[in-house]
Amino acid sequence: MLRFEGVLQKMPTHLRDQVHYYMNLGVDLIHMNEFLDKEIHLQFLKYECLNCNKDKKIFRQGFCYDCFYAIPQAGDWIMKPELSKAHLDEEDRDLEYEKKVQLQPHIVYLANSSNVKVGVTRKTQVPTRWIDQGAHEALEILEVPNRYLAGIAEVALKEHVADKTNWRTMLKNEIEDVNLEVTRDQLKQYLPQEVLPYFLDANTETNIKFPVLAYPKKLKSLNLEKKQHFTGKLVGIKGQYLIFEDYTVFNVRSNEGLYVSLEV
Ligand SMILES: [Zn+2]
Repeated sequence: MLRFEGVLQKMPTHLRDQVHYYMNLGVDLIHMNEFLDKEIHLQFLKYECLNCNKDKKIFRQGFCYDCFYAIPQAGDWIMKPELSKAHLDEEDRDLEYEKKVQLQPHIVYLANSSNVKVGVTRKTQVPTRWIDQGAHEALEILEVPNRYLAGIAEVALKEHVADKTNWRTMLKNEIEDVNLEVTRDQLKQYLPQEVLPYFLDANTETNIKFPVLAYPKKLKSLNLEKKQHFTGKLVGIKGQYLIFEDYTVFNVRSNEGLYVSLEV
């Protein structure tokens, strides 16, 4: 039996013929694909805020309440890129940090995980962001020099396409292929004038295969904080979800900051 212990964080991934997932528990980087078709035991031991490392209940994004409302990594502009202000030299929580993150190339993309949606990410996060969302196809449509411009493009396009994934549809794999290049060309007319010089009219779709042996027919979401422990046979990984044979699914990303043990 193998045993690992550490704080849960979003699984790092690597895209080859299919997605390879790793669990980053302390010093051990665990290749999760090797555990497919094997029984896994997860146990919740305590909290560990990803910023202050204290054993405090996690509020959001792996941070305790106090950290979430204080640190620049959890500013409103993270979830709402259109609120970015570093390009105006205006500080939200820490201008130096905000300049570093916001004033770099960003991608506005279309991704299809359950439906076509529009999203924003730093260029360095392609294709990671798409993998995290469980998108089986995605396409860059704009490459802009800062987060603000990506944000205003996204706001404009949200009037015409979704900006959320239906995680149930994504996990049950009730998906259809869409020609994203056609969608891109249809959406161009809705883009704000300011971002038109950054339109990517010739990119092609990226297709992503996930390591899933069997898709669940129904879904039971695991609340590890409440249940304390869980045992099940791993039959797939998609997005940031572990999928088990009994239809239990566990979203690693939304459980960041939980300190757990993992036994295989
Ligand atoms: Zn904290």
